[in-house]
Amino acid sequence: MEGNFKAEQRVQFTKGLLDAVGIGAERLDMFFMSSSMAPTLVNTMNLMIDRIRKLGPLPRKWSGITQKSPDMSKREFLFQMLKNMSLKAPEKPVPVPPELEEFGRIECDLTGCIGCKRCGEVCPEKAIDFKTELDLPLILQNIAGSKQERVTKRYMLYKTLAKIAAKPSSKILQVPNEMDEFCKLQYNPKKCVICEKCAKICPERAIKIIKELDLATILS
Ligand code: SF4
Ligand code: SF4
Repeated sequence: MEGNFKAEQRVQFTKGLLDAVGIGAERLDMFFMSSSMAPTLVNTMNLMIDRIRKLGPLPRKWSGITQKSPDMSKREFLFQMLKNMSLKAPEKPVPVPPELEEFGRIECDLTGCIGCKRCGEVCPEKAIDFKTELDLPLILQNIAGSKQERVTKRYMLYKTLAKIAAKPSSKILQVPNEMDEFCKLQYNPKKCVICEKCAKICPERAIKIIKELDLATILS
């Protein structure tokens, strides 16, 4: 009942991936027809053959791996293959269709994060880590437009700093190990499977799921 809809979303996403690496979305397509529509099938096949002939072969042969090894996840294999096949570096994030699960990225609002580290503890892929540093320039830049549901001490601290600042902050501060509640979340999009556990457990709702894939970072 749902397979064709899921497949449609995957094809749409894959077209975006192929475009991003310079292969071109038009090499892949999806058509709907029933088993009684033989002439439509033939016409569609001919349409694709014509299209592919016009596009011609890809400019160079693939390099690197072309087969999944047993220790590789499907995700790792996909990213590795995209890297092998890429004809250009991705210029912008690839949109992820709204219903397609497992792809996307997370975004952490540093002005809301209180460094509790629960997100890192629940992440099944170890895609979240922490650095003992405070990105004050980014925090002070974002705090003006930030709307927190809860006014925490942390939030008041950043708000006050932004108000009294005599000049824009330009330095990322090193945080003493004993104060690692001021740590900065480090996110690895290559590992993330968008299980949403981090966003659900965050007491400050500082993590958002964004429906786009940061392919440039993933393939770098
Ligand atoms: S969405 Fe899941 S896999 Fe991705 S960072 Fe959050 S907990 Fe980890
Ligand atoms: S769970 Fe939320 S508040 Fe805690 S470290 Fe992660 S992002 Fe920050």
